[in-house]
Amino acid sequence: MSLPRHALVTGGSSGIGKAIAQRLASAGHSVTICGRDSARLQEAAKDLSDHGAPVTSLIADVSDPRQVRELVRQAVETNGPIGILVNNAGRNGGGKTAELTDELWRDVLSTNLDSVFYVTREVLARGGIHEVDHGRIINIASTAGKQGVLLAAPYSASKHGVVGFTKAVGKELAPQGIAMNAVCPGYVETPMASRVRQAYAGAWDTTEAEVLSAFEAKIPLGRYSTPDEVASLVEYLTTEGAASITAQALNVCGGLGNF
Ligand code: NAD
Repeated sequence: MSLPRHALVTGGSSGIGKAIAQRLASAGHSVTICGRDSARLQEAAKDLSDHGAPVTSLIADVSDPRQVRELVRQAVETNGPIGILVNNAGRNGGGKTAELTDELWRDVLSTNLDSVFYVTREVLARGGIHEVDHGRIINIASTAGKQGVLLAAPYSASKHGVVGFTKAVGKELAPQGIAMNAVCPGYVETPMASRVRQAYAGAWDTTEAEVLSAFEAKIPLGRYSTPDEVASLVEYLTTEGAASITAQALNVCGGLGNF
């Protein structure tokens, strides 16, 4: 069973976040998505609405604490106290470590890790989550948050940080009735996945198709997961039946990682 609540999904205009917004809106929750690009947000909101999943879209860069404060204020003003927070926004990024720039390192860490802290802190402080029964915070980490990924040190470091943050804050919030978990996708077919394959094709001087074959060969299921397969675990974690699952990091990866 799932009590209807207001769900804030960061980076909900694409890939996994959009699939999560679709599932949560279809389950009867009021959904707010955010992103940095107004045109992409509007396009996603129209597409979701056309598929019977209306959402509110707000512009915000979640790596900026001032914009996060305004995002949460506007979201609460529009749809009421936030009962479900999905920290999904993120970016890929890596390369040979000796060649990484300060700018890339900082942007990957601030987009993937600082943002999870900023949005979580704001939702706890002023988002009204304590006023709502069955509060849930779900952080989209990665199997790269549990094992090192070659040529992706900033990404792996950021996602290990998200897993650690989740485990610590999950323990803090459990006595307050708020469950907090990380969902760790493996390879999921999204625009980001395509960018990742292009980066490896450049680094290994091969084609994107060859990289895809090499990655698929590592996955026991033999294929990438779909955004909706990730979204279905997120939806389950919002249900009353999932109340005792907290401070965990759960994989959706076709068997890629079993840790
Ligand atoms: P995507 O590129 O399709 O979507 C990412 C979304 O985040 C976009 O809507 C983008 O606009 C938004 N975003 C990025 N930076 C932002 C910022 N500073 N402020 C606001 N919004 C921002 O990627 P995806 O594959 O759907 O990834 C979603 C999440 O899943 C990410 O956290 C990613 O690390 C994680 N993940 C993806 C995969 C995969 O294989 N696709 C695997 C493991 C984890």
